Amino acid sequence: MLTLLSDCLLAVVLFVLFWYVARVSRNIQGAFTWGAAHLVYTIGATLFDAGTATFADAGLATAAALSTHLGSAVLCGGMAALGWAVVQFARRRALHRLEIAVVPMAVAPPLLVWGLGGGWEAQSVVLNCVELLVLLWMIWHLHVLREDPYRLPARMMMLGCGLLAVLYGSVVPGWSLSHFGFDEIWVSVDLSIWFMLNFCMLMLCSFRAAESLKLSAMFDPLTGALNRRGLHGELSSWPDRDQPGLSVIAIDLDHFKAINDRHGHDTGDRVLQRFSETVRSGLRSDQLFARMGGEEFAVVMPGTDRETARHLSERLRNQMMRLEFSPPEGRPFRVTISLGIAFGGSDGEPFVELMRRADDALYAAKRKGRNRVEMQP
Ligand code: GH3
Ligand code: MG
Ligand code: MG
Repeated sequence: MLTLLSDCLLAVVLFVLFWYVARVSRNIQGAFTWGAAHLVYTIGATLFDAGTATFADAGLATAAALSTHLGSAVLCGGMAALGWAVVQFARRRALHRLEIAVVPMAVAPPLLVWGLGGGWEAQSVVLNCVELLVLLWMIWHLHVLREDPYRLPARMMMLGCGLLAVLYGSVVPGWSLSHFGFDEIWVSVDLSIWFMLNFCMLMLCSFRAAESLKLSAMFDPLTGALNRRGLHGELSSWPDRDQPGLSVIAIDLDHFKAINDRHGHDTGDRVLQRFSETVRSGLRSDQLFARMGGEEFAVVMPGTDRETARHLSERLRNQMMRLEFSPPEGRPFRVTISLGIAFGGSDGEPFVELMRRADDALYAAKRKGRNRVEMQP
């Protein structure tokens, strides 16, 4: 009884922690759901086990029955919502309609047993079945967290869910019903595994929070391109950055100041965004796109020959010429870009030097009249 009540208290503490994580880092899906669902689940389990026993000992048969059936329904609902949390976190998305239906589907069997006049044993079989199915569902979704740093805590959670599935599954045939509930070892094994699941989930959430902080420090919020720091970070982790064939394209929008002056800063921002979308849609995943400042950008490509780089640059220039922008007031307009290409990487030339040469080529393109591609010899 005391163990279960202290478990409730811990569930409240965990709920506050998960609520706090979700509040501090709003893009972590599933953190709040987990904390709330675990609290509901624990309250259900306490009602079902300790509540039933306490009321029965006090001779309050009706209260004991209510505690059993209500506890079982609450427990099943909480358990299914824990599954929700895992789906939200692991898949990084909102729930599908069928997944939302899992909670009512989990609450229905205990209510049915209640309606049919079943007792504590019948409820315990039903709730263990529900727990078993949700645990398998959780394992299925946790397996997508294969990347570091999520891998270890996710694997430990899968193991914990597997052990719980065995524990709860053993109750289902009925042969061990007498071991269910207040058996000391059973309860402490059960609680220890739930501790582990909660700590692993907290760990996963803090990794996710750190990841989003890292991403926001690496990317430019307006265009979604890497910023300077992000570009240098990516380059330093490139395994083949010293390989021959590294090329850099420096890109600058032509007469961009005039666009701001004529159509306003917001329209200028939208031009930068559409330009960035256009560039990104034409790049491979191993090619980097960065905003070097203002309306100056760079594309960095490994293993690219001169002709490919020139071809890509000309394609971008043509795509930009075809784009039409409609300002809130005034006539639609078009924007051109100038591009400078430099090659390097073979003789250990530092990236800043390569970038400087690409800039030189870009200024040559500007001098020669803009809306053109120039290449460093
Ligand atoms: P050039 O063809 O020689 O490159 O001329 P330019 O007008 O494009 O170049 P200049 O460097 O004179 O002006 C760049 C302008 O870009 C000035 C600045 O106000 C604008 N700018 C820089 N960052 C932003 C931004 O984030 N949003 C908007 N709307 N404008 C920006
Ligand atoms: Mg410019
Ligand atoms: Mg400029």
